[in-house]
Amino acid sequence: MITGKNYIGHTLSATGQKTYRTFNPLLNIDNEHVFTEASEDEINKAVALASEAFKTFRTVSGKRKAEFLNAIADEILALDDELIQVYCSETGLPEGRAKGERGRTVFQLRSFAELVAEGSWVEASIDTAVPDRTPAPKPDLRKMNIPLGPVVVFGASNFPLAYSTAGGDTAAALAAGCPVIVKSHPMHAGTGELVASAIIKAAEQTGMPNGVFSNLNSSGIEVGVQLVEHPDVKAVGFTGSIRGGRALLDLAARREEPIPVFAEMGSINPVVILPEALKTRGEALAKTYAGSITLGTGQFCTNPGLILGIKGEALQHFIQHLGKEIIQLEPSVMLHPNIIGAYEQNKQKAVSQSNVDVVVDYADTVQTNFARQVITAVEGNTFLNNPTLHQEVFGPFSMVVQCEDITQLEAVIAQLEGQLTGTLIAEASEANQYPSLIETLQNRVGRLIYNGVPTGVEVCPSMVHGGPYPASTDSRFTAVGINSIKRWVRPFSYQDWPNDLLPDELKNGNPLGISRLINGEYSTQNL
Ligand code: NAP
Repeated sequence: MITGKNYIGHTLSATGQKTYRTFNPLLNIDNEHVFTEASEDEINKAVALASEAFKTFRTVSGKRKAEFLNAIADEILALDDELIQVYCSETGLPEGRAKGERGRTVFQLRSFAELVAEGSWVEASIDTAVPDRTPAPKPDLRKMNIPLGPVVVFGASNFPLAYSTAGGDTAAALAAGCPVIVKSHPMHAGTGELVASAIIKAAEQTGMPNGVFSNLNSSGIEVGVQLVEHPDVKAVGFTGSIRGGRALLDLAARREEPIPVFAEMGSINPVVILPEALKTRGEALAKTYAGSITLGTGQFCTNPGLILGIKGEALQHFIQHLGKEIIQLEPSVMLHPNIIGAYEQNKQKAVSQSNVDVVVDYADTVQTNFARQVITAVEGNTFLNNPTLHQEVFGPFSMVVQCEDITQLEAVIAQLEGQLTGTLIAEASEANQYPSLIETLQNRVGRLIYNGVPTGVEVCPSMVHGGPYPASTDSRFTAVGINSIKRWVRPFSYQDWPNDLLPDELKNGNPLGISRLINGEYSTQNL
């Protein structure tokens, strides 16, 4: 049941004055429930509880953390239809998408449960002492990853489940042993509260400390700012706009004790179509890309916002077909009037630049909050000389850049800001002819895709969802998959520490049976 209150640890609380409602973009009306923004006092309590909880949660065994994460997954599923209905009413997204995203969320939680139950993720490493080494004895050194402390997670507007309250950031942080305070996204506060209730139930069932999780409502930046500035918060996870992520990164850097901010932000995801592919399957590619550009009303961070090819008949043909295909698709609703407002504004800004051709702009009347898809085209020189055209237009929008030749195409890629993905569309015969272009593309992105579409982010250990700034604030980490746990830990060494005082992961007897690097060789044996 939705109460509109905050979870301050295990307790529901609403002492603040500011209230707000979520919005149903499909019906164009406010939803029923009223949410109370967290007060300064509640924020401080949530952080104090998280700091206290960290003292015990940081040493909870992997097996018990796994029970907690699996219980969260079970409780989310137990919310059943209520969760799905609230999700749909707060996003306008269809039931199928809600269920798919719930499945992904549950899968992520269970993947982290499996990871920490097995235990080798801590990357234990042991270098035994050599007391008679000359000229100086070598000490015994043992290293493993340990949790950072309380983490603040900012939920994403476009993934109310998989990248929000119990999404990837939260699951990874809890798995690492970090208490989590979620700054709930105002557009889906009801979905957030229901999921938070599942996490609290799971925490109580599995005996996790009060404060291991809190959920704070907010409809403005104040709550987030106070959280990031709080001295007892030790790291931040964020998914959203470049402006928001950058503001939080700067805020965290200005603290007396700066902390890491792992923000996954905007991206236009360049797609390079090589000449032979364009010639042999331009029409089929146009159809595929019309679908990818409009998927989820273009509200994916991996949306293909930029398509690059070499000028000529084949590219012209592709552009025309892309326009023809995309215009046949029914426009769909965006998540919120603010998102569609930003889409209209950014689209307008892009199309009003000099020498931008509008290939198609869906002209028929659409329902309120529905987005009209747009395809534009520019010459390579125009793109190179106008940085405004490099900016993300979050929605069903894409720009085709007609380059003079491969050299200019490579120059366009080299000039791009950091991106989440880069896609290469090529015939087998030509793929190996452009090593320099591929290297340039690799240098700008976190993931390369061959003959596919960038939309669709598989959750698995080999996925990298991140990239050079501003795709993310730290390209060394992924925000998706089990390796994202590494954002919430730091390496820690014990020197000459007595065996019985060491954590189980580093004890001589290897009681957890995990894989460890012992004197340079991986082993699951004891010492
Ligand atoms: P957002 O504006 O970046 O906000 C995300 C969260 O961060 C919200 O909870 C917001 O709080 C908070 N926030 C933003 N700026 C802040 C600041 N200066 N200080 C403290 N907190 C701050 O993203 P959004 O609301 O999800 O969507 C807005 C736009 O972001 C979209 O139109 C789109 O352009 C972009 N976006 C991009 C992606 C992507 O993956 N590339 C994903 C989602 C959104 P409040 O809402 O409470 O103010």
